[in-house]
Amino acid sequence: MSFSLNNFYARWRRHSGAVPTLREGADPPPEQLLQSIWQQQRLRRDQLTTFDGQPVRILHPGFLSREGGPDFRAAVIQFGNHPPVSGDVELDIVAGGWKAHGHDRNPKFKSVVLHAVWQAPTRPAAGPPLVALHGKLDAPLAELAEWLGGEGVPGLPEEFRGRCAAPLCELGDDALQQLLQQAALVRLRGKASQFAARAREAGWEQSLWEGLFRALGYKHNPWPMQRLAELRPRWQSKSADAVSLQSRLLGIANLLPTELTRARIEADAHLRQLWDGWWRERDAYEDCVLPRSLWRLHGIRPVNHPQRRLALAAHWLADGKLVTSLERWATAPCDDRRKRTSRRQVSELAAVLQPAPDEFWSRHLTLRSRRSAKPQLLLGDARVTDLAMNAVLPWLWARAAEGNEASLTDNLQTAYLMWPAGEDNSVLKLARQRLLGAASEKDFNTASAQQGLLQIVRDFCDRSNAICDHCRFPELVKAWGMEPHSASPQR
Ligand code: SF4
Repeated sequence: MSFSLNNFYARWRRHSGAVPTLREGADPPPEQLLQSIWQQQRLRRDQLTTFDGQPVRILHPGFLSREGGPDFRAAVIQFGNHPPVSGDVELDIVAGGWKAHGHDRNPKFKSVVLHAVWQAPTRPAAGPPLVALHGKLDAPLAELAEWLGGEGVPGLPEEFRGRCAAPLCELGDDALQQLLQQAALVRLRGKASQFAARAREAGWEQSLWEGLFRALGYKHNPWPMQRLAELRPRWQSKSADAVSLQSRLLGIANLLPTELTRARIEADAHLRQLWDGWWRERDAYEDCVLPRSLWRLHGIRPVNHPQRRLALAAHWLADGKLVTSLERWATAPCDDRRKRTSRRQVSELAAVLQPAPDEFWSRHLTLRSRRSAKPQLLLGDARVTDLAMNAVLPWLWARAAEGNEASLTDNLQTAYLMWPAGEDNSVLKLARQRLLGAASEKDFNTASAQQGLLQIVRDFCDRSNAICDHCRFPELVKAWGMEPHSASPQR
């Protein structure tokens, strides 16, 4: 089954330049698409090698920079069995770009540790170690172009309300909801196609675990979490209990504190227990241990700390029934599902994902926290929605679509569209201000409306600038607003 959609929002994306037209095998990707491929790591990550044949592991792709130096800053890369190195990554279509663009003479490029190019050179090229991406994508280029988008215009500080605010305001509530739903469905298909692409390489279960771990990394730490999940075939043994898995995962993640608090007896006792387990296994997993610098821990709320997320994952893995339980949740009889309220869906999924109370983690937010007076769940409602939108529903939908199970894909799509809104964030706040002016958080009462808004930002705002130069979204909205359209979403 194709993951493409033909609703009006999907057509807008194609006709407005948000999706570049590419001839498979003939055209190299536009630069922004190549950046998006790198940023999202839509690559067969376990097959990358340098020009001279050394395996390359991308532990973190780095942060996209628009300041005129290398494309990505502070990436973490491992060459062969050497210790990981941190530095910048420059992307180019051809290897000759390194000299032709003067990077070899530019001090801003001194910290480049990897030159990622589209086409492999025919002979060794000057510059840092080189990796070619052509032939290493996890899906056909045209499919990635559809989900990741095309050429943009450099961004400027965002200060003004968007040009689309007026036509969006004139649409009326029903039409606006319909538009957001169409954009959200595009987002669902994009994520589903990523799961399907990874499943072709590593199997459905592995693709789910990678998606769950990525979602557990939230916005600060998706890459180290993804790497841990990629290493799952190495570290998961069938019979390990939750504490042993915590100790192994936290050890491999390099997140076990090396000092006791000496003031918090329970935290110190638990840490000793985890270290006892990790000391026994450390040699066996030495080659998997992540550099601590891979984690972004500064400013993280204790409740979102990766130690806590890994404790949750350890429970799922030790229990061993998560995949079956998710399948059972998804395939509950159709009539039942239609009768369910969206709130009930959240609580039913929360019941699947919430482990039994953990003696330590229900009273401590991190490995060094003081004991809290009130017990805390390992998984709050907001995280259930994140996991549903970013991993559970797209993965289940992709599997159902590949199996041609039309009624299941319909049910999952309905669940996705009806899901109650998740936590607000700064991207959503800014998008509401720019696109919708007065719209408040409470006007966005479904997670799909939030997802739709994020998709519009990605397709249009991220390709324009603060004064909306070249953005075709306002005229598309205006023209669509004048057409008669039904209130129900097209599929
Ligand atoms: S860039 Fe386009 S979509 Fe974004 S605020 Fe401006 S007009 Fe609206």
